[in-house]
Amino acid sequence: MTTETVSQELKAAIRTIPDYPKTGILFRDITTLLGNARAFRRAVDALVQPWAGAKVDQIAGIEARGFILGGAVAHQLSAGFVPIRKKGKLPHETVRIAYSLEYGLDEMEMHKDAIRPGEKVILIDDLIATGGTAEAATKLLQRMGADVVAACFIVDLPDLGGRARLEALGVPVRTLVDFPGH
Ligand code: AMP
Repeated sequence: MTTETVSQELKAAIRTIPDYPKTGILFRDITTLLGNARAFRRAVDALVQPWAGAKVDQIAGIEARGFILGGAVAHQLSAGFVPIRKKGKLPHETVRIAYSLEYGLDEMEMHKDAIRPGEKVILIDDLIATGGTAEAATKLLQRMGADVVAACFIVDLPDLGGRARLEALGVPVRTLVDFPGH
């Protein structure tokens, strides 16, 4: 299958909900892709394809949809899985970073001992929009000494410029489908 065919198949499996969670946003709902066995497998296969046979130590997934995809990718690459969570959810000692949302600030955390310095880590989430969430997660991982070798997403909203923010941190970005606008 060509990359273009895979991309079209994945795009068709994603549901778009207009004006959710607020007016003007087109919410790209990947639950329909996850519920479609063939599309779910194709998405995970396409995400891991460049790293088949490579040594990747950890997959870091961003709460919550990044956990579903990250777990599947970690299994396929025989890597560990590190959850990056909203603050207050992890039970052991954590490191934390603040990042801006459209309105105000939020914070995310990971366990302090989740990554050993120099480990090769791939960051995973379902979608990159402005890149603020993934940029904060990358900074947190890099602060702990991770070598973030890539950030992978099913969906890119290229009009919002997220990719450039991660590339500015030295992290290559892989995405499988694009949607215009927000
Ligand atoms: P950002 O920090 O702007 O890159 O936003 C990325 C995060 O917000 C991801 O965890 C996405 O799941 C979620 N997100 C942002 N925009 C959308 C959208 N249009 N549809 C679905 N999820 C979105």
